[in-house]
Formats: sequence, C-alpha cells, structure tokens
Amino acid sequence: MMKNKKNQQKKPPFNQYWIFGSVIIAFIILNLFSGSGTEKSNITTPSKFFNFVKDGDVDKIEIVNKREVYVFLTNDALLKDVHRNSSGKSILSIAKLTPNYTFEFGDLQNFENKLSATSREFNQDIEVNYVTKQNIWGDILISMLPFILIIAIWIFIMRRMSSGTGGAGGQIFNIGKSKAKLFDANAKVKVTFQDVAGLEGAKEEVQEIVDFLKNPKKYTALGGKIPKGALLIGSPGTGKTLLAKAVAGEAKVPFFSLSGSDFVEMFVGVGASRVRDLFKRAKEKSPSIIFIDEIDAIGRARGKSNFTGSNDERENTLNQLLTEMDGFGTNTNVIVIAATNRADVLDKALMRAGRFDRQIYVDLPDVRERKKIFEVHLKPLKKASSVDVDFLSKQTPGFSGADIANVCNEAALIAARKNKKSVGKQDFLDAVDRIVGGLEKKNKIITEDEKKAVAYHEAGHATVSWMLEHAAPLVKVTIVPRGRSLGAAWYLPEERLIVRPEQMLDEMCATLGGRAAEKVIFNKISTGALSDLEKVTKQARAMVTVYGLNDKVGNLTYYDSSNGNEYGFTKPYSEQTAETIDKEISAIIEKQYQRAISILKKNKKKLIQLAEVLLSKEVIFKDNLEEIFGKRPFDKKVK
Ligand code: ADP
Ligand code: ZN
Repeated sequence: MMKNKKNQQKKPPFNQYWIFGSVIIAFIILNLFSGSGTEKSNITTPSKFFNFVKDGDVDKIEIVNKREVYVFLTNDALLKDVHRNSSGKSILSIAKLTPNYTFEFGDLQNFENKLSATSREFNQDIEVNYVTKQNIWGDILISMLPFILIIAIWIFIMRRMSSGTGGAGGQIFNIGKSKAKLFDANAKVKVTFQDVAGLEGAKEEVQEIVDFLKNPKKYTALGGKIPKGALLIGSPGTGKTLLAKAVAGEAKVPFFSLSGSDFVEMFVGVGASRVRDLFKRAKEKSPSIIFIDEIDAIGRARGKSNFTGSNDERENTLNQLLTEMDGFGTNTNVIVIAATNRADVLDKALMRAGRFDRQIYVDLPDVRERKKIFEVHLKPLKKASSVDVDFLSKQTPGFSGADIANVCNEAALIAARKNKKSVGKQDFLDAVDRIVGGLEKKNKIITEDEKKAVAYHEAGHATVSWMLEHAAPLVKVTIVPRGRSLGAAWYLPEERLIVRPEQMLDEMCATLGGRAAEKVIFNKISTGALSDLEKVTKQARAMVTVYGLNDKVGNLTYYDSSNGNEYGFTKPYSEQTAETIDKEISAIIEKQYQRAISILKKNKKKLIQLAEVLLSKEVIFKDNLEEIFGKRPFDKKVK
C-alpha cells in the first residue's frame, strides 16, 4: 500500500496543479454560460403557467433536468399586457433561445399528467421537449468544491513540508523517515585515528568502542554488556564529529550521521517516527554507529520552562530515543555516539546506565596538541622553510581544531593571492589575525584624536599587564581597527586548571588598564572600554557568586550545575544578600581600577613612550615592550 503511493508520488510534481486548475476554470466557465439563460428569464409558478396554457399563450416548453420548466410563449402572447414586466417591457426572448419564463415543479409525473389534461381540455397543442442541461456538472462541482479545495490545500502543504526537509525531494510520504546521512564502511569513511591529532584521552576511551564493534564476542563471552552510547562533550570545532567518524573508520562499520535538529519538525509525531526509522536502518546494517550531533536540540531536560506545552513534540522525540536505546538488546551492535557542547542542559535520563553512560570530554587543545593539529593540517600545504610549527601553536591560544584547520586554509589562500610559490610565516600570521578579529580594515576612517585615544588605551593595557606578576604575558598590541574593535592587545593566557584570586584580580586590573590610561593621560574617559567593563564585571560577579572568593558573601556559590545557572524569575538569595553582592562587586572593580591608575601614574613616562611607538608603528610586539620596560621580571616563570 505504502509503496504504491510512494511510486505515484514520483510522477512529475505539477500534475495535480493542472488538474485542479482546469477543474476550477471549467467550473467557472460552465457557471457563466449555463447560468445566463435562467437568470435572465422571469420566474413564474406552476398555477400561473397553467393559466397561460388555458389562454393559449404557450408555444412550447422544455423540461430541463426533470426538475425545471422553460416556457416559450407564442408571438401573439408576447404582445399582451400580462407578459410585460414591471418596467412595461415585453419579455422578449432573443430568437427564442432563452425561455420567457421558468419555474420548478415538484413531481414530474404529476406535472405531465396535469399538463396533458389541461392541454387536452383547452385544446392546446404544446410542444414538449426533454433536455438535459450541462449545468448538472456545475451542480456536481458545487457539491464537490469543498472537498476539492481541502485536497488541494492538503497536497500543497505536504509538498511544502517535504520540499522544506531537503533530502526527501518532494516525497510527501517520507516525512517520518530519518534524514541520517549514511557513510558506508566500504564507501566513504576513510577517517582514522591518524587524522585526529591530540585528544589522547578521548581517543583511548573511544578505542574501547572500536574494539566492541570489531569483536563483540570477546566481551559478551565474559558476560559483559556492550555499551550502547557515548556522549562527546566539548565546544564547537574541537573534533567531536571527526572523532566519531574515526571510530567508524577504525571499526570499518557503517556510520549514520545526523544532527539533533533534524528530528524536530512542526508536525506532531514526526520526530519520534524519524527516531524509529533511524534505528531500524541502523539495525539492518549492524554493527553500525549512529552519530547524533547537537543532541541538546532534542535532549534538553524535560518539563523545564515548559509554560505553553509547546515542547511536547521534542519530549516525544526524546522519549522515543530513550525507548529505542533501552529496547535494543546487547547483541544488536548499534552504538550511538552523541555530541554536545552543553552537557549541563541535557536530561538526566540520557546519562543513565545503558544509555549514554560514557561521557568523553573533548577539550580545546593546548599548545602541545595545537602543534599536532597544525602538523595534520600543514601536511597538504606547500609551506616555506620559515614556517615554524612551534611558533604557530604558541600564537594561537584558545583556537579549536576547526580554527586551526581554518588558519591553514586561509594562509594558503592569502599566499595564493600574493602569487607566492609557497605559504610563508607572514601568511600564517595574517591568517591568524584574520580569524581572530575579522578582516583588517586599514581604510577605516578614524580621526587623529580617536587614534591617539585608542593608542593610549591599548598602551594602558600593555603597561599594566607588564607590571603585574599574574597577568597574562602580552604577545602583541595593535591599533589597526579590525572587525568592530578599534584596537586590541593580545595576551598569551597560561593554561590553568585552577585560578587563584590574585590571578583573577591581576587580570581584572590589566583589563581596566585601558580606561585607567585614558583617565591618567586625558583626564577623561570614553565609551571605548565597554567590552573591558563587561569582562571585568562578569569576572567580579563570578568571584563573588560562583567561586566563593569573597569574605562578605562567604564560601558559598549560587551556581547551580543542574540548570546551567539559569535562575529564571527567582534569585536563590535574599534581597539583603543581593545588596551585599552588588556592593562587593563594585568594590572589587573600583579597587582594581584605582590600582591600575596608580601603576600608570608611576609609569607615566613609559606609558607615553609606548603609546607614541604604537602611534607610529600601529603594531608592536613583545620585543618593543622589552625595549621600553626592560625584561619582564616574572617571565622566567612562564615557559
Ligand atoms: P565538532 O564536531 O566538535 O564541532 P568537527 O569534528 O566538525 O568539530 O571539526 C571540524 C574540523 O576541524 C574537522 O573536520 C577537522 O578538520 C578540524 N579538527 C578539529 N579537531 C581536530 C583534531 N583534533 N585533529 C585534526 N583536525 C581537527
Ligand atoms: Zn580595552
């Protein structure tokens, strides 16, 4: 049944439209033509008609559709007063084509009897014709019109829906099918662990999954249960998809890949049926891997912020997913790998034993790992000998694997634009700049005054951070505007797992250094420090309310890991505490601001010197800072 329908749907898509269109047009035409005759003639009643018959006025009649009588008068009768209408005109019919009168009778048999009796009695010879007018089709159409309209609208909506879902390609009955992309073992997945740089811990953990898939008997023989799911947690671009693909590639099994948002559709029940379909397909190809990217699209905690009940569809989808994962036995050999960057919002039911009970953290790479990722992505490039991988990995703190892949590609493009034979160091640096701050806008118009203000602001950051032991060491300062910012100071953040209060405070002080410099030099402040202030305020609030680093508020946290720190309408503390928190936050910030000001006042000469260099060179590096300040006393601590 289903199959037949599906095949029909593969015919050219415009067929229905032509049918509906022509039916409706035909209906309109019919109505116009057939209706014209009746509408123009006068309606009379059977009793009046029989009076006409008695008077000998009737020439002939037509019995139309066994329902209605068209009356044609004799020429003489037309001259009579009775047959003039209210405006005094004779009811002429054009060439006797249209009737002079029409009326409807009840029963045909009765009418015929009465007519023959009357005409015999008064000796009238009336011609009677029986006709069927095409108008009958109009009537049928009228009665069917609502259905036709409903069907037309339905088909229209289905068509819109299924063309909107991409792959389904206009097949309306495919709406409940999953949209998973299948990479077959023998076809596509050629990714192996070799292609995944760094991520040692994560690779070790997924290695186990590869073993399970490769020879499940080894594990089940000892009574162990094969895991059903693994959750990869990490920020975007850290290589979660890559890792899942590598698992499939290593185990040489089919790989079904789709995103959590692919399940969600405006129709109720579609998500759940897609889940069912996905698992059915995966089981047919088992052993296999299902990879669900962005699982938070369906896996968010149920029943939260659900005021309207509008999330029911998502919940149904999630429930179906849980049912499927519980449902398949240990011998199915389908392993679900899901990825998210927000593990904190996921429904706890997802993490329960037998579901995604393995959680694998995929973090942003550190220097060492960045170097390895660079090596992977530099391989296909023709690079100049000047390119130093160590240097590149140090220049890219906070970059994800995807960012690094992007840098390499961008560098190659930049070199090509300059018609170079190989990709040089400067090309990589330009690519890094471009990815960090958006495109350089050298021709952006800023006034001299503005430029000066920016230079002192950035010099302020640089000076303060240079003078503070715990502030991150500076890499580069620029006053070339890029993206939305007018200038920037880049630091090399240490990769710390635990941050001490003095480190946080030093960093805040350096961040406030920009505004402090404006104050010290020009004695006025500007709006240029907005993002600095935002950063500092967030940090201060975190110290007080999250990390418990404030004496007045104490060793407690208002952070709630179970809801991702979304308080909703109620704050978890009293008005009084709220007041204390506000006071403490502004006290922390004010103290660091004053500290930055005093540092800059003490080093005012050097600050001015630095700002002048910055104004002339636009970009300065660590070396330039050393020329002015001398070696940084704390730098030996930084490797
Ligand atoms: P995620 O799924 O975590 O958002 P992806 O796996 O899609 O990230 O990564 C995007 C791209 O970034 C990959 O195709 C790859 O080119 C690159 N990449 C990310 N992490 C790594 C890594 N550890 N090693 C090599 N390349 C990586
Ligand atoms: Zn700033």
